[in-house]
Amino acid sequence: MLKEFDIIVLGAGAAGLMAALTAAQRNKTVLVLEKSNKAGKKILMSGGGRSNFTNLYVEAENFLSKNPHFCKSALKRYTPDDFITMVQKHGIDYEEKKHNQLFCINSSKDILNMLIDECTQLGVQIHMDVETEKVVKKHEEGNESHYSVTSIFNSKVSSNKTQLECKSLIVATGALSIPTLGGSGFGYELAKEFQLPLVPRRASLVPFMFSDEIKDLCERLTGLSAPVDITSNGMHFLESMLFTHRGLSGPAILQISNYWNPGDEIIINLLPGINAQELLLTRKVKEPKTTIKKHLNELLPKALVLELEGMCWPKYKNYMLAEISKEKIEYIGNFLNAWHLKPAATEGYRTAEVTLGGVDTDVINSRTMETKDHSGLFFIGEVLDVTGHLGGYNFQWAWASGYSAGLVA
Ligand SMILES: Cc1cc2nc3c(=O)[nH]c(=O)nc-3n(C[C@H](O)[C@H](O)[C@H](O)COP(=O)(O)OP(=O)(O)OC[C@H]3O[C@@H](n4cnc5c(N)ncnc54)[C@H](O)[C@@H]3O)c2cc1C
Repeated sequence: MLKEFDIIVLGAGAAGLMAALTAAQRNKTVLVLEKSNKAGKKILMSGGGRSNFTNLYVEAENFLSKNPHFCKSALKRYTPDDFITMVQKHGIDYEEKKHNQLFCINSSKDILNMLIDECTQLGVQIHMDVETEKVVKKHEEGNESHYSVTSIFNSKVSSNKTQLECKSLIVATGALSIPTLGGSGFGYELAKEFQLPLVPRRASLVPFMFSDEIKDLCERLTGLSAPVDITSNGMHFLESMLFTHRGLSGPAILQISNYWNPGDEIIINLLPGINAQELLLTRKVKEPKTTIKKHLNELLPKALVLELEGMCWPKYKNYMLAEISKEKIEYIGNFLNAWHLKPAATEGYRTAEVTLGGVDTDVINSRTMETKDHSGLFFIGEVLDVTGHLGGYNFQWAWASGYSAGLVA
């Protein structure tokens, strides 16, 4: 095997493959080293197997980072339209779902195959089952650095330790979420070796767990979902929420988990767009002989109404509205529009779609993804402190940051 390359990319995930094919279009020799036995495992699992590969409207506001401006340059350089053009060139069928999210119609394999095909046609070498042991910056000639990468190439029959050389090293090893899909802290360790600062990390786009009576309630309602407006730390999302045997999940919960910190409350409006106090007080006047449950059953799943009743107005469950005081109705209405809950924890990296935090963008050039202090060393994708909302934004960041690095590395 040739031992010297213009570029070595660590990680054959979304960002790494995009960087590799972009650099190869510039006639660079590119080697991609992947730790696991398969490229792009997260791409394959994404979007329930249909990959929500981008979003038609991508703004900096859809991302979290210590520096909210950092992502702007790359997102402008490589837009959703650019990725869609590649998808169309490969004849991949896709559809727009709610919130401008684009999904494959057949399978997320289409996206992975597209990236691999592009890489193969352009002569990119991709090796699986490679453990990288050591990365050393060798010397700088003028502005050019050289990196030496010591990797172990594993196969069923043997393991070969090989020393490789490159002018540019692109770190695309992703983040900690879902270790079985390649989640790894390698990129953070490498950053530390090069004295690059890290922003604290935590699991995100992740379900919540509860330890109190809410856990039992969620267990009883497992599988039930309802549209809610959910708030935490000044951010809110109008999406559906799902009860699970561990707690709460669904798009609303995953979205708000980006903004939730341990110990914080979440506030759930179970009747978005409806003032529950006003509704019940009006019905008290117009239909005084009816119960609260009758009216809520028209708006919420019956099983949920029963649970809410047991928790919030058990004494009044068979009372007619006429018999319930205005104050009590106001209290119940307020509860329905603002149910305050305190999650005990998230489900953690085992099920999280992403990792918040990562390599501090202060030390990265936002146009190129190159580290400011080490020419030729790039970080792209989720390993950086850039995290998107649910809805195709995390892939768009992987494509855009990969492209930006591939264009100059
Ligand atoms: C279940 C699930 C569903 C998701 N669905 C969506 C979705 O529909 N839309 C969306 O936008 N986002 C989705 N995401 C998030 C998205 O997958 C990630 O944000 C994106 O894959 C990050 O790209 P990346 O290239 O930075 O990292 P990854 O895609 O994780 O790639 C990193 C690669 O590096 C490899 N690696 C790790 N350590 C090493 C090492 N030491 N040496 C060599 N290789 C290494 C890993 O095996 C992996 O192949 C989903 C995530 C999960 C977990």
